[in-house]
Amino acid sequence: MSTSKKKVQLTKKQLKELKETVQAERERLTNKLNLDHPHHTINNSDSGKDEVDSANDDILRRSEMRFATREGFYLKKLTKTLGLMDNEEYGICEDCGSNISFTRLKARPTSTMCIGCKEESERNEMQNYHGRMSKSLGKSVSFSS
Ligand SMILES: [Zn+2]
Repeated sequence: MSTSKKKVQLTKKQLKELKETVQAERERLTNKLNLDHPHHTINNSDSGKDEVDSANDDILRRSEMRFATREGFYLKKLTKTLGLMDNEEYGICEDCGSNISFTRLKARPTSTMCIGCKEESERNEMQNYHGRMSKSLGKSVSFSS
């Protein structure tokens, strides 16, 4: 019998710990997003400063919307992470297929890339940002040798 073929490097205990973190985080976010909505509006008791209120309200709404979007995005990520955990696909780099270290997962439970691939993709982003020149130059070195 070979159990060594299994790709998941995390122990059950580690996985449980991470799962609990993600679940707690998801719960906290869900509550927060639900709470954001109802009683947050300004009461009628403060009449007389309508204009200021509506201006503030507008700013508030806008920042809340941006906030909600970012939180919502994170919430989706957390849900996806839980799904990966259930399928035992968690902790595996989606780029190169190697294991993501527990230390990294503990710091960022939603990581889907190992540190090497993450750094590389960040480098690529930088390169794309600065233009494609360097990339094509790198590809056409073959002529000199
Ligand atoms: Zn990787």
